[in-house]
Amino acid sequence: MTSDKRSIRSQLLEKKFDSFLDKILTYFPPLGKVLTTLFGAQEYYMLELFRIIKQRVNINLLLLTNRYLIKGRWGGRVVPLNVNFDPDTRFLPTQEILSILSKSKVTGISTCYCRETQRKYADNPNFDYPLETCIHIGLGKDLQEIPYKSENLRKVTKLEVEKLLHQCDDKGLVHQLIYFPNPQYYYVVCNCDPNYCLVLNGFLKCGSPQMIKSDFIAKTITKSCTNCGICEEWCHFGARRFIDNSFLFNSTNCFGCGICISKCPNKAIKLVIKK
Ligand code: SF4
Ligand code: SF4
Ligand code: SF4
Repeated sequence: MTSDKRSIRSQLLEKKFDSFLDKILTYFPPLGKVLTTLFGAQEYYMLELFRIIKQRVNINLLLLTNRYLIKGRWGGRVVPLNVNFDPDTRFLPTQEILSILSKSKVTGISTCYCRETQRKYADNPNFDYPLETCIHIGLGKDLQEIPYKSENLRKVTKLEVEKLLHQCDDKGLVHQLIYFPNPQYYYVVCNCDPNYCLVLNGFLKCGSPQMIKSDFIAKTITKSCTNCGICEEWCHFGARRFIDNSFLFNSTNCFGCGICISKCPNKAIKLVIKK
């Protein structure tokens, strides 16, 4: 058998396995919940192992694992915070982060692995962003009883979570649901800065298939826009550009994160549902 035929056959098998797994997850959601919780519980150790391997032998196992093994099954789905939505926009409740959280079992918040790691090991660490920003979702009280998890988790009230999300929004951090084994099952709500976030960074710099856009897109109200350029500075995805004083919007690059909206001094941007 030629290598081409073998590769076609393995691709077909992979597709079959993927659709089989997705079918099981659709018909039996508790399995997705268990898998996402288990993955979330071991994530710290996996990332630490990958970091050490990269440091010692300069192999980016994180990228390779996501590209060839887990593929799109592990990643982040961007979700905007409920700020300044167009009142006419009837957005789906599942797309709004506070609503999502109110339906989830928040087990506590922990420090951000990506920023903590860069503070420990980077040559020029950045201290601009808050550290305790990861909102963990679990099966319920059980997760608190897992010792290595509960050590890192601080219990929080709903009000504290809301405050944290707004603080993260002010700092221009992107809200993401980190999921496994598919975007329906998430184990942590992360607030990420693109420079150090392994998920965002992996996507922006290496194009690894691990980020899903929100269902929204930014729309500029041209009559209110003064071309000040502030939104360009805050858009982490390069969707907003000012070239020769002309505003250029690249809709393909817009992740619908909503950060430009909270930063625009003239309320000249709104989020609308993508058509
Ligand atoms: S994914 Fe984002 S919030 Fe989560 S640990 Fe990484 S940077 Fe921090
Ligand atoms: S921040 Fe607002 S006013 Fe300034 S350029 Fe962007 S859309 Fe226009
Ligand atoms: S234009 Fe940029 S900052 Fe605004 S919602 Fe889209 S990706 Fe986010």
